[in-house]
Amino acid sequence: MLRYHTVPVTPFQQNCSIVWCDDTKRAAIIDPGGDLPQLLDEVERLGVTLEQIWLTHAHIDHAGATAQLAREQGLPIIGPHEGDQFWIDALPQQGAMFGFPPSERFTPTRWLHDGDTVTVGHCTLQVRHCPGHTPGHVVFFSPEARRAFVGDVLFAGSIGRTDFPGGNHQDLIDAITQRLWPMGDDVVFIPGHGPESSFGQERRTNPFVGGT
Ligand SMILES: [Zn+2]
Ligand SMILES: [Zn+2]
Repeated sequence: MLRYHTVPVTPFQQNCSIVWCDDTKRAAIIDPGGDLPQLLDEVERLGVTLEQIWLTHAHIDHAGATAQLAREQGLPIIGPHEGDQFWIDALPQQGAMFGFPPSERFTPTRWLHDGDTVTVGHCTLQVRHCPGHTPGHVVFFSPEARRAFVGDVLFAGSIGRTDFPGGNHQDLIDAITQRLWPMGDDVVFIPGHGPESSFGQERRTNPFVGGT
């Protein structure tokens, strides 16, 4: 069974999730935006073996510490979709713009596409391409655990910003209604910021996508 532990990192309190297979204790880390010493302490405390980095998108609060972590721990970088190449290239400037520590570009070991899967230990998650907040944004869904890691696509009571370069409001609405809702009302999602919620709850009450 898939388990996870979420750690808010960076001044933006981005929800970095350490996910692992309970059988094997093999782990992946989703969106290591920063605060690496804290994240590595959590990995050690959990007693899991970190093997992969998975990225939802390449904004600095999500991807800022990726290059350093990959280099220091010898980890592959999985994702996001190649639509975010320009955000990866801009990581050094994103750092300067938002007052983050210097951040490095990287080359993903594997780009992700809609319909792909990623596997850690005995756990396989589905990948859906959900553009709109960024062009290359992906989400990770565990049908068994009924959990989705959705980055900045959807929040409890809100949706991702679409006023950045490459953002597209209609794409975001389409991604939420056509790619997230079909996962099921019971699915709990871990957003990039703020508390967890379920797709059913957002379908009923979210003012941006409610009633869709
Ligand atoms: Zn973002
Ligand atoms: Zn974010």
